[in-house]
Amino acid sequence: GPDAAPTFGPQARRHTRPVDIGGVTVGGGAPVVVQSMTNTDTADIDGTVKQVAQLWRAGSELVRLTVNTAEAAAAVPRIRDKLAMMNAPVPLIGDFHYNGHQLLAGEPACAEALAKYRINPGNVGFGKKRDSQFATLIEFAIKYGKPVRIGANWGSLDQALATRLMDENHERAVPWEAGRVLREALIRSALDSAGRAVELGLPPERIVLSAKVSGVQELIAVYRELARRGDHALHLGLTEAGIGSKGIVASSAALAVLMQEGIGDTIRISLTPEPGQSRTNEVVVAQELLQTMGLRAFTPMVTACPGCGRTTSTFFQELAQKVQEHVRARMPEWKVTHPGAENLTLAVMGCVVNGPGESRHANIGISLPGTGEAPSAPVFEDGEKTVTLRGERIADEFVGLIDSYVERHYGG
Ligand code: SF4
Repeated sequence: GPDAAPTFGPQARRHTRPVDIGGVTVGGGAPVVVQSMTNTDTADIDGTVKQVAQLWRAGSELVRLTVNTAEAAAAVPRIRDKLAMMNAPVPLIGDFHYNGHQLLAGEPACAEALAKYRINPGNVGFGKKRDSQFATLIEFAIKYGKPVRIGANWGSLDQALATRLMDENHERAVPWEAGRVLREALIRSALDSAGRAVELGLPPERIVLSAKVSGVQELIAVYRELARRGDHALHLGLTEAGIGSKGIVASSAALAVLMQEGIGDTIRISLTPEPGQSRTNEVVVAQELLQTMGLRAFTPMVTACPGCGRTTSTFFQELAQKVQEHVRARMPEWKVTHPGAENLTLAVMGCVVNGPGESRHANIGISLPGTGEAPSAPVFEDGEKTVTLRGERIADEFVGLIDSYVERHYGG
């Protein structure tokens, strides 16, 4: 009935404690932050600087790099300085496994240069050494005033904890299925480690949690539990998502469900780059996911029809692509000179069936002539037909109209 609760749009964000990561706030209701990770050898300073700068320019607001050797740890402060000189001052996150306690002890400048430490509670050490090595990592975070991400992962689950939970499970009147025990072990690993860090003196507003798995339904189940059981800021990501469209679809499916429920304060889309494909693709996908869900706006979005037998050529597909590439290329400059331009909506449509209608819903839309239509392309601005383009230069003229619209609506 008319009094029913509104059901449109994402649910309110879950309350989490805001965490400051080198000036970028994650959690506490701040916009969902996009992050990514390099795949260069961190000891290769120039190669890493180049990739971090590319990721940052593509829109990655935080960049993580692996810190796995003494050489990598020594490179970190130099990478940070070079990025600052290039005017790409992105906060760097150090990804530590197995030997983080030694690397931070051996390279204080690295401990200082990083904006956050990622600690994997499943591999900080084994047996008797585990607790003391975890404590050492947390003590460094306290000493240098840094936040940490306690990042549990399905692929490197704390084996002692998993075994203990298996044993407990056998004693249950109605034992859980095996998957549930493993999910519980993953959740418990993250939550217990966070509790331990707080006991050691790390303020809870310096802790981000993650518990990544590679299955969509498992990830949704795990993060619903993490959100229910605490108020730490959450880092979302489907681990080992995969190659090409599979990785994109799986990540989007899992993260969209969670974000729709208000869960998640920062996201990373883990894609295996296809040969020749840029690492920045994962940043573009993360931004598009947030923008298509209406959570954030980064760059004008193009609505385009898929084309069908009513279109005579691929001209309109090329136009749609050209328009998307144009606005994406202009956006870094517009961000400074024409703030708000990221909210612009565009439509490129193939024929009269849905063309004029869809074009009227966009800020600027064009409806190209399909088979049998007059060779003219009406342009609509905010619902009104403004001009009709014809001939060879339709693409250039339409792009010019976009620039002039941005100038008029977001300039000065
Ligand atoms: Fe086909 Fe026209 Fe629909 Fe595009 S708008 S898919 S060309 S019918």
